[in-house]
Amino acid sequence: MRVGVLALQGDIQAHEAVLERLGCRAREVRRAHDLDDLHGVVLPGGESTTMWHFLRRTQLDEALRCFLRSGGAAFGTCAGAILLAREVRNPDGRGLDGIDIGIERNGYGRQTESRVIDAATDDPEAPSIEAVLIRAPRIVRVGSAVRVRAHLHEEPVWVESGRVIATTFHPELTHDTRVHRRFLDLARDFAEACMAPDTQ
Ligand code: GLN
Repeated sequence: MRVGVLALQGDIQAHEAVLERLGCRAREVRRAHDLDDLHGVVLPGGESTTMWHFLRRTQLDEALRCFLRSGGAAFGTCAGAILLAREVRNPDGRGLDGIDIGIERNGYGRQTESRVIDAATDDPEAPSIEAVLIRAPRIVRVGSAVRVRAHLHEEPVWVESGRVIATTFHPELTHDTRVHRRFLDLARDFAEACMAPDTQ
């Protein structure tokens, strides 16, 4: 199984460090061909407007859309979640359509309102997860096929659909590796599907 981290801008190394701790050396994705033969890609937090600029310039936007359509696993944190969304607000636009959600940039307010808070998960064995929110976007709509894995005051902060995960918080900045482990499971699932294409 091969995974990568989109390495245009943002907290790339924090994700690489978590994946490394989980036994996975990630490839840095800077150009469209870096996605070739990957099974999963992490889209880190950062500044989504800057990331869009680089994505378009390198044509990685189209390559990522293709990767997502082919069933590749993806995990976007914060700005990465904005990139993966179907609709974006503030300003209004469209994301890569990797997951059927609507997301509002800076939906929890400005930098001064960034905080660390416990979110409630859907796992009775581990019912809370530490959520680091940094100028976080707010998920304002979830499609019917989207599963809410964690929420904060009834608002989703960790969502999944198919092999795509979006979190509005930064699990790579805590010691909790749950979301990254889930991402690796989804990437492994895609790797297995690639080896048995007839059963897809
Ligand atoms: N507010 C940033 C954006 O709109 C996201 C912040 C983050 O990734 N921590 O892109």
